[in-house]
Amino acid sequence: MSLPGYFTKGIVRLVLAAVFTLTALAHGQLTAIRAGRLIDPDSGTILIDQIILIRDSKIERVGKGIDIPPNAVVVDLSRMTVLPGLIDCHTHLADGAHDGEPMGQFKKTAAQVALESVPNARAMLESGFTTVRDVGAYRALGDIALRDAINRGDIVGPRMFVAGAYVTISGGAGALTGLAPDIQLPWDLRYGEANSPWEVRKVIRQLAHDGVDHIKTLSSGAVLTHGSNPKSQEFTLEELQAAVDEASHFGLRVEAHAHSAEGIKNAIRAGVASVEHATMIDDEGIALAKQHGTYLDMDIYDEECIQEGGRKGNVPKDFLEHDAQLGQIQRDNFRKAVAAGVKMSFGSDAGVCAYGTSGKQFAFMVKYGMTPMLAIQAATSSAADLLGRSSEIGSIKAGKYADIIGVPGDPTADVRLLEDVKFVMKNGQIYKH
Ligand SMILES: [Zn+2]
Repeated sequence: MSLPGYFTKGIVRLVLAAVFTLTALAHGQLTAIRAGRLIDPDSGTILIDQIILIRDSKIERVGKGIDIPPNAVVVDLSRMTVLPGLIDCHTHLADGAHDGEPMGQFKKTAAQVALESVPNARAMLESGFTTVRDVGAYRALGDIALRDAINRGDIVGPRMFVAGAYVTISGGAGALTGLAPDIQLPWDLRYGEANSPWEVRKVIRQLAHDGVDHIKTLSSGAVLTHGSNPKSQEFTLEELQAAVDEASHFGLRVEAHAHSAEGIKNAIRAGVASVEHATMIDDEGIALAKQHGTYLDMDIYDEECIQEGGRKGNVPKDFLEHDAQLGQIQRDNFRKAVAAGVKMSFGSDAGVCAYGTSGKQFAFMVKYGMTPMLAIQAATSSAADLLGRSSEIGSIKAGKYADIIGVPGDPTADVRLLEDVKFVMKNGQIYKH
């Protein structure tokens, strides 16, 4: 080969390589998933032998018999059932490695809590939950830092939508309680305290400025808070209305923690997007939720972990006293709400049970009245609707993020298969296979 010919070939190769790279950059990385079965929660159906074409982070096409472009990376899940990534609407990923005692927060710096939260986020994603609505951390704004670190790609975790802090009455369900009255808490452990409609508005304005995705209010006492009574009412109707109105100015939705029947009804009447726990909801509350289109986000599995922690001596005695009988009441009311056709979302209160075990709630949702498909919809299409993100997540459709999971077998026949998710993709990137 002559020297000029060698150079010419070399230049041609370089030019071809450059063109290929530019084409790849312009058109993105292509991935094709062969799905043996594909669950579509939008229609409640199972599709057979589907091809999912993914370009970068988004789904481009889904269907049977689609031609797979030669430059696509092929992922063969033809022996699996493929579902949209699961969504847990009630998590607390940014509380570090806590042991069930809120006072443990005083033994750690904010930096310790933040770094301890890194494995929580990974466990959540690897268990198949590609999105969470994280509903509060004791140390304010730590959840925002965790969300942003995941979005930058610095650490592995689910897509997070965060609350920033608990908007709560002083000494209420979202406050750190149990200390002597003359102990002054640092700013980030009392950031969300508010005691009038205007104080509620002020806190929400601050949180909106801090960059939160939604607002968490507490409308009744709590089980896992010292000196609290879950049967009580905390924020007034007026304060909750102020929360919903103020949040709407920033395009934010509000969720309300509520165990007591009155706390639940106040929250629904105020116009919250979802009631968390909804433990003692009465018939009027169920009718109101239906009328207002309010989601109930009921954590009906974590009672198992509270009771087990109690047997091991890991749950404070007063928490167990608050909890007495409430677990069964909540499960019975879940069944009633499902039968009444109330909108239901999947929320596990992750952190009460170990991170990465939220999937165990599916079997309880089925035990208490849902079909497996309804339980799957609660954690996919319905959850996305609650978050106001149906155009981005919640089903495997063109234009949505490529958040996709896979399990062997058929989870609509045995929903417990979702306790052990084998394939996890988020944003078009594979995290588990
Ligand atoms: Zn919670």
